[in-house]
Parts: sequence; C-alpha cells; structure tokens
Amino acid sequence: MPRTPRCQHEPCRGPLPITARTDARYCSGRCRTAACRARRSIPRELTSRPRWVRRSARKVPLTTGGATASSTDPGTWARYREAAASDAGAGLGYVLADGDGVVCLDLDHCLTADGEVVGWAQNILDAARPTWVERSVSGDGLHVWGLGELQHGRRIALDGGGTVELYGTGRYIAVTGQTFGGTPQRLGDLGPLIRELL
Ligand SMILES: [Zn+2]
Repeated sequence: MPRTPRCQHEPCRGPLPITARTDARYCSGRCRTAACRARRSIPRELTSRPRWVRRSARKVPLTTGGATASSTDPGTWARYREAAASDAGAGLGYVLADGDGVVCLDLDHCLTADGEVVGWAQNILDAARPTWVERSVSGDGLHVWGLGELQHGRRIALDGGGTVELYGTGRYIAVTGQTFGGTPQRLGDLGPLIRELL
C-alpha cells in the first residue's frame, strides 16, 4: 500500500496537497522554512558525529532506509546529512554511544500550556551551564543536551515533584531541533550538574 505523503515538518505532519510534486517534502513554504530553521539550530557537536537515525511516530529508531535501527549497532546509524535527507518515519534521532561524552537530560512535562517552565525544571536549567536545550517531541518537555560522563541511564525523582531522566550511553534520543528560549547552539559541560543530581 503506498504511503500517504506527509509533511516532514514534524509539528505539522499534515498530508501533502494533492498538487504537490512527487518529491515534495513539506506541505507549504512555511513548513519548509520552519524545518530548515530547526535543522540549522542543532549544534555541530551533534551533527558532526555519525550517530543519526530516523524514528517512527512511536519513537521506534529507524535506519535512513526505514528498517528498524538499534542504539547499539553502529551499522544502522548514519551521518547527519543522510538522516536529515531521509523521509523515513517521522523525524530524527541521535544515538548516545560510548566515548563521545554526550549526555541528554530529559525533563518530561515541564512546560505549562503557556510555555512556562515549572519550578523543578527551572531549577535544573538554572544549575546547568549554558548549553543547548530543545523542546521534546511531546511539546511540553525539554531535552538538555551537553557533555558529561554517564555510563548508565538514571531516573531521578526530584523534591520539587518532577522527574528527570539522565541518558548517557546505549540510548537514542528523539531530536526535534526546536531550540528552547535563547539557549546557545553548542554543548556545555553538564558534569557538575550530573554529579549534583546523582
Ligand atoms: Zn506542513
């Protein structure tokens, strides 16, 4: 059964107009512009590493060809350029792997409907060195990307009521490229914050 062509700008995912060219990827110029802006905002520390996968709408990691990918099999990963050019699945993912020192803190459900950061999450953002933060796929969570050492993922319940998940190795993270606030387009040192949380 042929796949219904969908707009590749993830927050949209609307059907392409019936008049769209067969190689069209976005439903409108507006979505193309938004998708380009998201791509350009991903720090080079991430785009320069061949750790990219696609992912389904249900967050299953996929190869650029659309097969199931594995966060522990480098043979299923791709360079950023190839992953960004693929239309498999619903979006991009980055694999955290041994040796590159990239970590990601996942702050789930930390934005209010007005886009305000709730207290426990703001405390974490305040404690983090300047680093790139993006909105997560759900739209009401944040990913704090940075550098640090973390062998095993950890889930930490905070006094303020929230939960933060720390990811270091053997995981892939859905990447939206939707920079949060005025955070810089580079990865800061999250070592001190991680030591504080653990
Ligand atoms: Zn669209």
